Amino acid sequence: MPFSELGLSKPLVKAVVAQKYPKPYPIQLEAIPAILQGKDILGIAKTGSGKTASFVLPILELFQRKSAARNRYIKALVLVPTRELAGQVAEVFQTFGANLPRPVKTVAVFGGVSINPQMMALRNAEIVVATPGRLLDLMASNALQLSDVDILVLDEADKMLELGFEEEMELIFDRLPRDRQTILFSATLGDAIQDINTALLHNPVKIEI
Ligand code: AMP
Repeated sequence: MPFSELGLSKPLVKAVVAQKYPKPYPIQLEAIPAILQGKDILGIAKTGSGKTASFVLPILELFQRKSAARNRYIKALVLVPTRELAGQVAEVFQTFGANLPRPVKTVAVFGGVSINPQMMALRNAEIVVATPGRLLDLMASNALQLSDVDILVLDEADKMLELGFEEEMELIFDRLPRDRQTILFSATLGDAIQDINTALLHNPVKIEI
């Protein structure tokens, strides 16, 4: 099945063609239509599976259907374990989002660099890709609010736990609206991931690649 049959609008299909993706990877075939339908996703997939585009494309599509942003209130939050992954994921949002009718500002925030430029960058951001510790610091400084988040993505959730982010993740989960869509990706499905699944996801579509 081609990308054009997954429910993405023409500008996004064009953006995929521009990246020379010949056809969807299996994870994309399953995840893109489900996310567009508003379903929660439990995806067991590793790097290289195409998992990033499987959530970036439908999230950008959902934003095409939305009205304009309100200052300081972000709409989609992607939590990632490392600064490298934050940069990579934000770049994929920016690449596919570059020429859409309704522009969407994506910002990556992560620790190890000064916080002030990130505070400035967050103005008018609608999608934030963040490592958990820095996100909490920014929330403590009132640089962003999570009260309007309607899509949460946990990318490489097992690695986030491995790196000791459990407490930070809990604090972030507590600040999110209950009424939202949640997408969880993990390379493995251990007990801790099952616990997050039970606590945060509602009737998720399970995808194992
Ligand atoms: P990921 O698993 O998200 O890290 O993606 C792995 C690599 O596959 C990245 O370099 C993507 O650009 C590439 N990729 C993702 N989806 C496709 C596709 N449908 N066709 C070709 N390459 C893809």
